[in-house]
Amino acid sequence: MLDVQKIRKDFPILNREVNGKPLVYFDNAATSQTPQVVIDAIVDYYSNYNANIHRGVHTLSQEATDAYEIARKKIQKHFNARHAHEIILTSGTTHSINIVATGFTTLLSEGDEIIVSALEHHSNIVPWQMLCERTGAVLKVIPMNEEGALQMDVYYQLLSEKTKLVFTNHISNALGTINPIEDIIKKAHDVGAAVLIDGAQSCPHIKPDVQSLDVDFYVASAHKLCGPTGVGLLYGKEEWLNKLPPYQGGGEMIDQVTFEKTTYAGLPHKFEAGTPNICGGIAFGVALDYMNSIGFEAIAAYENELLVYGTKKLLEIEGLKIYGTSKNKTSVISFNLEDIHPYDVGSIVDKLGVAVRTGHHCAQPIMDFYKIPGTIRASFSFYNTKEEIDVLVASIKKAKMMLS
Ligand SMILES: *Cc1c(COP(=O)(O)O)cnc(C)c1O
Repeated sequence: MLDVQKIRKDFPILNREVNGKPLVYFDNAATSQTPQVVIDAIVDYYSNYNANIHRGVHTLSQEATDAYEIARKKIQKHFNARHAHEIILTSGTTHSINIVATGFTTLLSEGDEIIVSALEHHSNIVPWQMLCERTGAVLKVIPMNEEGALQMDVYYQLLSEKTKLVFTNHISNALGTINPIEDIIKKAHDVGAAVLIDGAQSCPHIKPDVQSLDVDFYVASAHKLCGPTGVGLLYGKEEWLNKLPPYQGGGEMIDQVTFEKTTYAGLPHKFEAGTPNICGGIAFGVALDYMNSIGFEAIAAYENELLVYGTKKLLEIEGLKIYGTSKNKTSVISFNLEDIHPYDVGSIVDKLGVAVRTGHHCAQPIMDFYKIPGTIRASFSFYNTKEEIDVLVASIKKAKMMLS
């Protein structure tokens, strides 16, 4: 069981007011809030040992390097990677996906096929389209159904020996649907395809085990996991990371440089050109410690309680429709009020201190499927409460009254 009132004290931002009302933060699927221990780690870094890593013999540089590599080990342990050098620290999910998509340019030929799911974030659609343009590979899409779940029978039919890569998120940021990634990975491997899972939306709720999933690539962002923005990870199986060429050239990623030829550094440095987000990486490790100290099972159970409560309360509002009704979903509720534009509802509830997201949530194909311009999305985290959901429901009722 979670002691939510105690947890809330860890997040200074939850004390603030917005438009004269206590903040109710329900935009956790876009970014999570930051606990004091993570803020302290950031302040400590810049106050005490800010230095560039890997290059210096001086004390500060060594302290920073040690802290950064300890963070990498924490991330390795959290995701259960076999080796620390299979963890590439990146600027986030988008960057991680682009490393893989660019790397595959040399591995694909015309007529090869890439399968993506209909539930993808734009960051997981555009890089593959660009890859197809470069290579002549063909993009295939696993369609979704009315509930917002993937049509797995169609997926099985799309798979063939032409399939080289399969990409899907674990959890849809727009609808909260949990995709059956174990099955997706296994079936892809049966035809010899590699799989990349976008865990940006699942990591805040579910602790993944990349070895038991047997996934080839796994990506996520720290800022959805109580960490800072601008840092994330690319996990790749060693054999795959060795096969992929480097993404960017620069310092840190080389072994020998002459004007005739450069040889690349080994993993993970081959993919970490330039000075990284040192403080961000260290703070990412602290954020994982924090979330593990609460426990992911307790987090998921409590968030599910919030989901059930929020769904019930919102559905009591006449004319409110929820999109994404799969049985397997996390604490994301995407909805609309009759034909009122989501933006108008979002603006009114903001005046009442409630932060929700409105729009297409970087997943326009899903909105096209439902033939809507967007939704209002409330996404709950373990530091939210049922009382806050009551405030949301009251503010939605008020918006409905004002707009209809
Ligand atoms: C947030 C999110 C992304 C993008 O993450 P960035 O940190 O912006 O790179 C990608 N996929 C999913 C499912 C997300 O929720």
